[in-house]
Amino acid sequence: MPHQSQKRQSRKYIYGPVPSRRLGFSLGIDIIPHKNCSFDCIYCQLGKTMDKTTLRQVYTPAHEILHEIRDVLDKNQRIDFLTFSGSGEPTLHKDIGYLINEIKKLTKIPIAVLTNGSLLHVSEVRNDLMNADIVIPTLCTADNATFRKIHRGHETVDIDTVIEGYVKFRATYRGQIWLELMLIRGINDKPEQIRDLKKVIDRINPDKIHLNTVVRPPNEEYARPVSLKTMQIIKEILGDKCQIIVDFKPETKVEQHDNQLEKITAIIARRPVTIDDLTKITSMDRTQVLKYIHTLIKKGIIEVSKHSGDEYYRKAGGSDDRT
Ligand code: SF4
Repeated sequence: MPHQSQKRQSRKYIYGPVPSRRLGFSLGIDIIPHKNCSFDCIYCQLGKTMDKTTLRQVYTPAHEILHEIRDVLDKNQRIDFLTFSGSGEPTLHKDIGYLINEIKKLTKIPIAVLTNGSLLHVSEVRNDLMNADIVIPTLCTADNATFRKIHRGHETVDIDTVIEGYVKFRATYRGQIWLELMLIRGINDKPEQIRDLKKVIDRINPDKIHLNTVVRPPNEEYARPVSLKTMQIIKEILGDKCQIIVDFKPETKVEQHDNQLEKITAIIARRPVTIDDLTKITSMDRTQVLKYIHTLIKKGIIEVSKHSGDEYYRKAGGSDDRT
């Protein structure tokens, strides 16, 4: 019989389920080491990119990831989506197609992939994502100068290549494409920029367009959120498929985790959160959450940062995730 501590091994690749603005209760699948990404976005909530790369390789072992997923599924918690997201760009992982196909054998829960879209021009990557139910790629601009300013991507990636990749993917992919437009004040929010972007979006023909803005502490202080009024103007320009993402309000509570401190640490390691976020995710009251927060601050594991007047808790030195 295994020792109790062996039974409670912490998970390395799976986190949550966390309430997501778009995906309900989303179980995060994090298959890339911290900030290995083809971009270094100014709005990124994970901090600086450690390794700016377009190299596809086996970053983490597929059998261990599948083992953790099986383990979570056995617990019968409410999970609305299994979501590839987290610490870096998931399509950099050479086994993402294999993982999607293997997960499909385990469960009927739909699979979402959040991607920066930089590799969709590669046919192997498009094939790998064919069996995902929803792909959520980023598209913030139609012009290369703004693209470079926002994403500071790998030298081999330019906006025309990205757009062509999206158009090719749409032509063969039968699942849903939800395009995410991250709006940054003074950088990509002018009506004329949005009108140019609309021409490109019409070519891509996504199922939905999600308007987002810099709601969590960004990589660069100058990446500021746009106002709700600006978002509404942009929504009008982009038309019916477009929606402003609003904060998710959970209707039912997630089951109690057997180790709340570990769970809070795992969540904060992947994205900055407020106390309100944590009370929703953990089903604990404010006082309990604050107790754990103070413990983690004392241990130097997390730190506080301010953004748009709110206090966020983040991993000391920077944190991750994008659902
Ligand atoms: S926001 Fe996403 S694409 Fe941009 S640097 Fe962060 S992880 Fe990479």
